[in-house]
Amino acid sequence: MSDRHILTAVAWPYANGPRHIGHVSGFGVPSDVFSRYQRMAGNRVLMVSGTDEHGTPITVAADAEGVSPREIADRNNRLIVDDLQALGLSYDLFTRTTTVNHAQVSQEIFLGLLKNGYVFPQTTLGAISPSTGRTLPDRYIEGTCPICGYDGARGDQCDNCGNQLDPTDLINPVSRINGETPRFVESEHYFLDLPAFTRSLGDWLDSRRGWRPNVLNFAKNLLTDLKPRSYTRDIDWGVPIPLDGWRDRPDKRIYVWFDAVVGYLSASIEWARRSGDDDAWRQWWQAPDADAYYFMGKDNIVFHAEIWPAQLQGYNGEGDKGGSPGSLGRLALPTEVVSSEFLTMEGRKFSSSRQVVIYVRDFLARYDPDALRYFVAVAGPETQDTDFTWAEFLRRNNDELVAGWGNLVNRTVSMAAKNVGAVPTPGELTDADRALLASTSSAFGPVGDLLARNRQKAAATEAMRVVGEANKYLSDQAPWKLKEDPARRDTVLHTALQAVSDCNALLTPFLPHSAQKVHELLGGTGVWSPAPRVEEVTDLDDGSPYPVITGDYGDAQAVWASRPLPSGTPLSPPTPVFRKLDESIVADELARLEGGGK
Ligand SMILES: [Zn+2]
Repeated sequence: MSDRHILTAVAWPYANGPRHIGHVSGFGVPSDVFSRYQRMAGNRVLMVSGTDEHGTPITVAADAEGVSPREIADRNNRLIVDDLQALGLSYDLFTRTTTVNHAQVSQEIFLGLLKNGYVFPQTTLGAISPSTGRTLPDRYIEGTCPICGYDGARGDQCDNCGNQLDPTDLINPVSRINGETPRFVESEHYFLDLPAFTRSLGDWLDSRRGWRPNVLNFAKNLLTDLKPRSYTRDIDWGVPIPLDGWRDRPDKRIYVWFDAVVGYLSASIEWARRSGDDDAWRQWWQAPDADAYYFMGKDNIVFHAEIWPAQLQGYNGEGDKGGSPGSLGRLALPTEVVSSEFLTMEGRKFSSSRQVVIYVRDFLARYDPDALRYFVAVAGPETQDTDFTWAEFLRRNNDELVAGWGNLVNRTVSMAAKNVGAVPTPGELTDADRALLASTSSAFGPVGDLLARNRQKAAATEAMRVVGEANKYLSDQAPWKLKEDPARRDTVLHTALQAVSDCNALLTPFLPHSAQKVHELLGGTGVWSPAPRVEEVTDLDDGSPYPVITGDYGDAQAVWASRPLPSGTPLSPPTPVFRKLDESIVADELARLEGGGK
């Protein structure tokens, strides 16, 4: 047991609608598997995130519905909170970016950067609507991408090639509101001096070990052409700029992406404030033994391997211009940026607007959370784009979870319950018994090592290989044929139950809901793998209400080790751990997809 401090920083889902299973495959399930493993291994995990609620898409949605951006954010925040909790994602705090605390911390980072000279004002061209004279936010402007030629690119980003844009880059820009051609006038903004971090970010990336090669290469590539990036935007929805002459302006806010990544820090600080020790967050951001792992899909690498580290280095005074840390003190950079690739759906890109989608909520209405978690862990987009197909989901569920793991649990517990009514007392072990127990207990080393390095697919595969060994042992020893030799039958059942107990611990990070059930089927009581809960709280500074995800994970019984199963523990006949799915779900789901996701 090591007792390190580990920050699990999970990408912030954008609050413009419910999340689909592609989203949670990228950031949700991998971050939770990692955190659950680290807690079982005795480390002190702080897992934080929240909904990202600023930026133009939310104002566009609000205008379309005739409501305030806050109403859109409130509604989607609650939807997302419920979905992520139902999936069993064990956040210590899942909050939101519209809290007063988040605005204060975002402003503190801005001021620290300003003090050290890493943000500077510059006049650029900003768009206004000729008919109203009002500022036209970047994302309200549409045109042809100058990089890839896509004709639906927006003023802040091209959704086709993923490049970040300025509205003035667009070819033939038009207003998305009324189709008129915007007029560009001089507008003052603050810029982050990214070129001043070329050397320090390079040194930091060179010192990284164990990153997925595609992520590290992508991040290093970004450094070849760093340009100053606008830290502020012409928009009225976001964190105000904390300077005289700016803070009260309704048309200038911090750029949504630059405040969203500060969320990892502000959520840690909010968690500490709620825990009763305002400085508790420092253990994860400033202690020498602390590590920080950031989880996301690959479209967010630029913000986690370039922008946020540059903000941190600038705040710390570690770029080319030097400087000293701001009032919070020096803040730790990411240990690793753990990025997944993309999940596609039946060969197509997920798209909410084209209805190539299955939302987490709809999925969980028909299937169990562990079935999705297992698919993502064992067959998800860990290091390459991966296709979700219903046929493969059905096969993984029925062949591996139900017929493999669930059947092992069921056969073993039901035979012991029927013949003994308890965990039997073993006699002398044979070589076969010892070989199985050696195999299950020694799996904690390699599976744990894979999980610590976020090789989750290999870890899940190895754990399931051990399940296969236990199933083979049971078939070979055939305790059901040992009616005449109850002593040997009891030894076999005890050995198999011990193997089930070990396998259950190995699978707990992936399958927390069923792991709790198996714990109880083995006669255990109390919490084995804790579930997160939704809690209604109020803003610590202005009292407005919102839901958070949190939980008590510290006193769970699950540990990353083989623990002897006590003989004599009473056992009852088991109920199935997993649901076998009917083959007809494949056709049903494909019809739903064709019918627009309904
Ligand atoms: Zn493009």
